[in-house]
Amino acid sequence: MGDLTRKTAVELAELMSSGQAGSAEITQAHLDRIAATDEAVHAFLYVDTDGALAQAKAIDERRAAGEQLGPLAGVPLALKDVLTQKDVPTTAGSKILEGWKPPYDATLVARLKAAGIVILGKTNMDEFAMGSSTENSAYGPTRNPWDLTKIPGGSGGGSSASLAAWQAPLAIGTDTGGSIRQPGAVTGTVGVKPTYGGTSRYGLIALASSLDTPGPCARTVLDAALLHEVIAGHDPLDSTSIDQPVPPVVEAARRGSVEGLRIGVVKELGGEGYQSGVEARFREAVELLTKLGAEVTEVSCPHFQYGLPAYYLILPSEASSNLAKFDAMRFGLRVGDDGELSAEEVMAKTREAGFGAEVKRRIMLGTYALSSGYYDAYYGQAQKVRTLIQRDFEKAYEQVDVLVSPSTPTTAFGIGERIDDPLAMYKNDLCTIPSNLAGNAAASFPCGLADEDGLPVGFHVMAPVMKDERLYAVGAALEAALAEQWGGVLMTKAPELEVAGR
Ligand code: GLN
Repeated sequence: MGDLTRKTAVELAELMSSGQAGSAEITQAHLDRIAATDEAVHAFLYVDTDGALAQAKAIDERRAAGEQLGPLAGVPLALKDVLTQKDVPTTAGSKILEGWKPPYDATLVARLKAAGIVILGKTNMDEFAMGSSTENSAYGPTRNPWDLTKIPGGSGGGSSASLAAWQAPLAIGTDTGGSIRQPGAVTGTVGVKPTYGGTSRYGLIALASSLDTPGPCARTVLDAALLHEVIAGHDPLDSTSIDQPVPPVVEAARRGSVEGLRIGVVKELGGEGYQSGVEARFREAVELLTKLGAEVTEVSCPHFQYGLPAYYLILPSEASSNLAKFDAMRFGLRVGDDGELSAEEVMAKTREAGFGAEVKRRIMLGTYALSSGYYDAYYGQAQKVRTLIQRDFEKAYEQVDVLVSPSTPTTAFGIGERIDDPLAMYKNDLCTIPSNLAGNAAASFPCGLADEDGLPVGFHVMAPVMKDERLYAVGAALEAALAEQWGGVLMTKAPELEVAGR
């Protein structure tokens, strides 16, 4: 049967349905792997050993009783710590929520549980999902399993690293400006940002409510599609949830055909500032898709260049308002409550102690951008740019079915390299941000290793609202063609981690 941690979710599901392995055994294998590797990687903030094993046993019992279970029942998963899970510590990577246990499950978590998916624990992330490297976590950085001196991406670096360290076959991320796709790109894994409103935000600790989108992370395209199907769909508890059928993502992933698909290469997302190894792998992937029958053209989206500045006004504005609820009264940390200080003073002391530097920076930026006298000049202007970017997409989609670019301008950089330079950090998001501003579907798929550093490169695909299946069609076609070259998925090329006790 081999090492259970090296299998895909689909393979694990087959082992279970054919009676060759139980969920308890599979879950234990992943918990053992976490125990052996997470001191080095630090993908998890909390490992729910007892909860996961209890869930796994319950699934095994239901299967033994002859119950019909969903396609991913019994498969383990790593959950980003920004989603509430009842009675399990949830911090969003912040000190201000240390020790808080949510009284309810996020809709997404409830759906995972209903599908019989086993939740191994909560993964590390940049504080309140602000960042591209996981270095902004109040609990210390996560390391990239491909090279432990490099960042695993962010904000969802814990989720992507757990996949790349073979600690979990499935993970959940959230993408506000790229936090599923960029971590996927730099760890050689698959990350999908569904259409905004395609997955529920209920129980997701908000960063920027008009952008936040939870989505699936996996090592293969089909695994991601199966997870997508579990978590997507209308939720009356989320006012921006789309009340339409889930796009046929699994079918598209199984078929994996790009025959006749019109692909537009975005002219503005390349060139200066892009690492040569990233551009080389990207071009080869485009050629491969052409050989597989896609019609490739170049498309111009002139306003994408203003995406970054617009995002870094809209996001802090929404974040400053969303984070006002952390007031020392309702959740988590409370500092200075000695009976002498006023409520306002306790609030100020708690926020001073509980928030990290990046969070404070964005609260100040957002408060400034929203203040009277500046509102029109900053927030209002950024919203106009957002509309222009949406129009660029609409025009492009009149000519093509999907748009493509590299997922990130560079491969994983060194831990500590950009932490003191917010602008250099923000530039990670150049390619990913436009889809968040427009609410489009988008994904990153592994497309090879850069020659300079041998690190993974991501292929970025963008599709119109509720056409998420097109992402999977491209991803699956690419994956199948590249598997012939690589002898499997890109992750099989990852170096072995030096594991304690080996
Ligand atoms: N890197 C982006 C930021 O710092 C993305 C955040 C996200 O998608 N959560 O805002």
